[in-house]
Amino acid sequence: MIDKRTRTVRKTADKSIIDADVCVVGAGAAGLMAALTSARLGRRTVLLDAMPTLGGQLVGTLLGTICGLYSNGPEPVRVTFGAVDEMLGYLDRASALHARRALDTIVLQYDEMLCGRWAETALVEAKVDILLGAIIREVRLDDRRITSLEVATRWGDVSIRCGGVVDASGDATVAWHAGLEVREPVTPQWGTQMVTLEGFDPSAVAEFDGFGIADLLKKRRAEYGLAREDGFIFAFPGRDVATVNMTHMPNPTDPSGATRATLDGRDQADRVLALLRAEVPSMRSARIRAYGMPGIRQTRWFVSAHQLTIEEVRSGARPDDAVARCSWPVEAHDRAEGVSWEMFGAPEHMHYVPLRSMVHRDADNLVAAGRCIDGDTAALASVRVMGPCFAMGQAAAHALDLSPRRSLHNVDLSLLASRLRPNLDHAHRDSWTLGV
Ligand SMILES: Cc1cc2nc3c(=O)[nH]c(=O)nc-3n(C[C@H](O)[C@H](O)[C@H](O)COP(=O)(O)OP(=O)(O)OC[C@H]3O[C@@H](n4cnc5c(N)ncnc54)[C@H](O)[C@@H]3O)c2cc1C
Repeated sequence: MIDKRTRTVRKTADKSIIDADVCVVGAGAAGLMAALTSARLGRRTVLLDAMPTLGGQLVGTLLGTICGLYSNGPEPVRVTFGAVDEMLGYLDRASALHARRALDTIVLQYDEMLCGRWAETALVEAKVDILLGAIIREVRLDDRRITSLEVATRWGDVSIRCGGVVDASGDATVAWHAGLEVREPVTPQWGTQMVTLEGFDPSAVAEFDGFGIADLLKKRRAEYGLAREDGFIFAFPGRDVATVNMTHMPNPTDPSGATRATLDGRDQADRVLALLRAEVPSMRSARIRAYGMPGIRQTRWFVSAHQLTIEEVRSGARPDDAVARCSWPVEAHDRAEGVSWEMFGAPEHMHYVPLRSMVHRDADNLVAAGRCIDGDTAALASVRVMGPCFAMGQAAAHALDLSPRRSLHNVDLSLLASRLRPNLDHAHRDSWTLGV
């Protein structure tokens, strides 16, 4: 029997209130690790994201490769651990991980959908309170402390009262809404519309796989109306899909401009496909299987107690408050036509992210993790890749755990370093990298 009765309701003035020890804003590589770590430390943790899905750019932008997890040289070792071990193990068991050599290190190709699924189950298991489709509207700052965040969701407004905040929004959105100073690049840093291709001839991937495809772009890009003259295609062995990173689009921060840039990025991706279909025989029947969310590199970021500089990155000096490390080259997307690379030749090169670059100068309980920490544009062009983002997320959670009701500017650094020891000192050769 179908129940045919209905009832009428009206909007009430009530607003949901969530009380938490830690609020993590942004569920990308950095925010996921921050929320997981914080909840596992026993802190009541809320994680919110404007998107209806978890994973930020790690999942939604279809990046295809995790960079910055391994050292350089002939036998790269992994340098970031923690919940990353679980994520990689899960992907490996699902045959959704593939190690490949690139730029004198190892990068990991991964299946984005399965990676997102891992994140969902891990966060639920850790009892993180998750709010998706939740956009920050207002942030309250009292006497150098963030005390509450007002959030709009499809189903109504939510007020979050918390002891500390991790800004893992990539765009310093918490600092921005709190009225704190943030930085912007003087020279725009270009974003990329990523796409996943299918329908190519999988027996002939050698024809297009890797960075060599840039030769074709260089010669023909004007004819096809393409901004960029470099880039790469990475075929995913056994999965008959390929990740394409060959476009550039601006990342403006005004709402209409951002939307226009997104649509222009998709147009650039269609032009790349037209070029590939016409010029590469094994791509004749290729199709775009999926367009990623707009790929955003740098928009706004923190003014922290310390700005990480390119000189510090080049020197590889380890500061007392180091919390994350990597050896990824400087990958500057600061011109429409392409990328400028600065490689670190020595296999033992490693550079570090200090906690001071993550803690906002003018607040005591606000820490950034991921691509919106404070650095000059060249330093950020290295440390924003996902390996160090994972490590920064963990570090942000530990720093807040060690400073409840106190200032992040006075964290006990020796205690913090002992908790983060694996991400600062351990090295491991993963089974999936052997023979690569
Ligand atoms: C095109 C492109 C290709 C790249 N390729 C690689 C690669 O191959 N390998 C690699 O390791 N790195 C790559 N990078 C770099 C790397 O992807 C990013 O720097 C990294 O993923 C950043 O992670 P994050 O957690 O800091 O931020 P993000 O992944 O950007 O996550 C930020 C989250 O915050 C949310 N958010 C933002 N504003 C609000 C708001 N107001 N309210 C609520 N939520 C909000 C967003 O929805 C988002 O989910 C690439 C970057 C780009 C743009």
